[in-house]
Amino acid sequence: MLYHSTRSCTSEVDSAFAVLQGLATDGGLYMPQALPAFDAKACLEGDFYAMAAALLGAFLPDIPHMEDLVCKAYTGKFAAPDLTPTVPVGDFSVLELFHGPTSAFKDVALSMLPQLLTAAKAEKQIAEDILILTATSGDTGKAALEGFKDVPGIKICVFYPHGGVSKVQQAQMVTQEGSNVTVCAVYGNFDDAQTGVKNIFAACREVKAGQLSSANSINIGRLVPQITYYFKAYQDLLSRGAITMGQEVNFSVPTGNFGDILAGYLAKLLGLPVGKLICASNANNVLTDFIRTGTYDRRRDLHKTISPSMDILVSSNLERLLYLMSGQDTALVAELMGQLNRQGFYTVPEALLGAIQEAFWAGCCDDTGSQAAISRVWNEHHYLCDPHTATGWAVAEAYVNQTGDHRPMVVLSTASAYKFPAAVLTALGGDTSGDEFQQMEALCALTGVAIPKNLSGLKEKAPIHTGVIAKDAMLDYVQAL
Ligand SMILES: *Cc1c(COP(=O)(O)O)cnc(C)c1O
Repeated sequence: MLYHSTRSCTSEVDSAFAVLQGLATDGGLYMPQALPAFDAKACLEGDFYAMAAALLGAFLPDIPHMEDLVCKAYTGKFAAPDLTPTVPVGDFSVLELFHGPTSAFKDVALSMLPQLLTAAKAEKQIAEDILILTATSGDTGKAALEGFKDVPGIKICVFYPHGGVSKVQQAQMVTQEGSNVTVCAVYGNFDDAQTGVKNIFAACREVKAGQLSSANSINIGRLVPQITYYFKAYQDLLSRGAITMGQEVNFSVPTGNFGDILAGYLAKLLGLPVGKLICASNANNVLTDFIRTGTYDRRRDLHKTISPSMDILVSSNLERLLYLMSGQDTALVAELMGQLNRQGFYTVPEALLGAIQEAFWAGCCDDTGSQAAISRVWNEHHYLCDPHTATGWAVAEAYVNQTGDHRPMVVLSTASAYKFPAAVLTALGGDTSGDEFQQMEALCALTGVAIPKNLSGLKEKAPIHTGVIAKDAMLDYVQAL
């Protein structure tokens, strides 16, 4: 199975190399030439570990011993025995993806990626160190740091937007321990940090500290593990008797970089009975406009919201969707990405828009709407949502009201409410005075929902990484590591 860039078919690499490189040399993203043949029904019979091994083995055949790697990646790391449980809440089900070491859904992929990279490095007999460069809107950074800390032969450097992440997210990152980690704030927003990282990749693929690679969802090794929980959710609905085998299920996904929801689309292409994929955005509704009109236009201000992990104007993984849905038309994808870069917008051909609208529906919800949803879900169902999950919930409700589509709905819950205690307390009418740790306690007193240990434990940790740099100083910073 060979991979090539979404922007050209000229250079082909195997799956181990695609994981090692992260980003293709022409700036495109790696995708398989053809999707693997996959037995979705057989996959639904295994547990989470077996599902992950089957999916990863199918997409990354050049990385050996996948079962062992999956076992090493997940054993003992998640607070839930089945890692990603699905629970009924009112008329919907909520897929809880926040039981990992950093209380965000990115733990599912970033627990796995270090194993994949280490194995790919051994397979390719690369003696040199690898330096993982990551831009984060809040959750990727910490999940990647936890995944990669003290992994031999790999170093990691995380950039986050100064003032652009929640206080808890910042505390999680600046207190990170590990002999191979660097964390640095950048003056600018997430898109500035992400563009800075992409520019470093364009300028060089190797620095003193090692060969560059990426832990962002541009890495195919980050994307594939996320397919697992769509299968797991479907299995949970089956075992609960909520559906029968083959019945279609809709998924509402709070979306930023389009990685999570793209994994859902891949699950559908592999044969999972997925109905509509609902793309939920906050006030940064560039994807809502795109899916409704076919024009992607990043020429607008970035709003800082209470769901910072979705404060994104350039959704990297959308490029993979365009590739898949255009019948792998790399010339078209290269042209559209060029337009986005040069003029800040592009419009897709009518037929492509039609195909996208067939599979996806999009909606958005601002901070007021998200807080109203947090409060409604709590009052009506006694279920505590974080602001990202609440966005997914509110847009799922809007979808059902507007379309009358009553197929079973799974809302992906991407973070613990305790990562955003101020916003959640405000929504519930609680007392937000005091620092973020007092706010966590106030939220716990109000709801009785336990604080994840990794978050309450932050209070005892001293900040280690306090640097802030200009966005155009990122390349120099990395070269000096
Ligand atoms: C990253 C993140 C998202 C968005 O996921 P994408 O894969 O970037 O679309 C949503 N919610 C939370 C809590 C996140 O950390």
